[in-house]
Amino acid sequence: MNRQFKEIDETIRGLNQSTDAHFRWLVKILRFIDSRNVDLPDVCSKEAHLHCEFGYWLNTRLLEEREDTNFLLDINKKHIRVHQACHNLINAIEEHHQTNEHFDLFEQSLLAFTDALTIYKVHLLQLRTSYDALTGLPLRRILDESFGSMNKELGANGLYLLLLDIDHFKKVNDNYGHLNGDIVLRSLALNISNNIRRSESMYRYGGEEFIVLLHASNDREAVTVAERLRRDIARLETIAGENIIRITFTGGLTRIHQDETLREVLERADIALYTGKKSGRNCTQLINRDLATQKFCD
Ligand code: GH3
Ligand code: MG
Ligand code: MG
Repeated sequence: MNRQFKEIDETIRGLNQSTDAHFRWLVKILRFIDSRNVDLPDVCSKEAHLHCEFGYWLNTRLLEEREDTNFLLDINKKHIRVHQACHNLINAIEEHHQTNEHFDLFEQSLLAFTDALTIYKVHLLQLRTSYDALTGLPLRRILDESFGSMNKELGANGLYLLLLDIDHFKKVNDNYGHLNGDIVLRSLALNISNNIRRSESMYRYGGEEFIVLLHASNDREAVTVAERLRRDIARLETIAGENIIRITFTGGLTRIHQDETLREVLERADIALYTGKKSGRNCTQLINRDLATQKFCD
């Protein structure tokens, strides 16, 4: 499954655990108030946010380079306030000068904290819908949104788009059933995404069509990569139930020029793909800006 998709799920799980951790922490405080001899002196100290379970989780995340650091920083700020408000409240109780304000501030800090968690969770859930549930790959929407900036940043060094479509996939479904067809789609997605560089990306374009963005400085290099991916898939044996299923795909490959929109590139790749299908499938069809095509296969 795609790394980013997994990461989103892990982060949502971590956030959910934070609620449990704070329930446990609140019970510890009640015990502390009741008996004063809890063996956890840190539970309501000024630095308690560093010692609570969620604090560990959050601080590990904050050390990573992430795109969503702003959400985490806001949560961190509110988390610290929760523990500070608690510290002030407990101190006041111990010294018998607690007021309603101490309780109100503690309540407000808790509500602000859960609010910040909810905002981040909504963001993560929205992001999750941009990924395909079957393969874990980003959907085309992510490519639509990132294409311009990616092309600007990486296009000058040579960026290629490979639009691939599984050959006769309808027959796979007809022969082995839709669920086994799904297993084949997952297997192809996993195989290709494991065989491209970390900086390259794969998207589920729709149905049994996928897009791979490849770094290559010229046509020859790009064809070499596309053909390696194609051959790997043609050799791949997917075990689905009692069946061993083999598939092939046809690819339309084209260079992404820096002054182009995604739509223009896709239209060209689609022509190449169509040409490849007509010419017998299981091949890579390279197309240039003048729409001249060249076929590569075994
Ligand atoms: P071609 O070589 O011309 O591409 O033939 P094809 O049979 O692959 O093409 P066609 O467009 O006729 O059929 C695509 C099939 O892909 C039909 C559709 O049911 C199947 N498909 C699309 N999405 C999924 C999916 O998520 N799971 C499964 N199992 N099948 C899917
Ligand atoms: Mg298709
Ligand atoms: Mg197909």
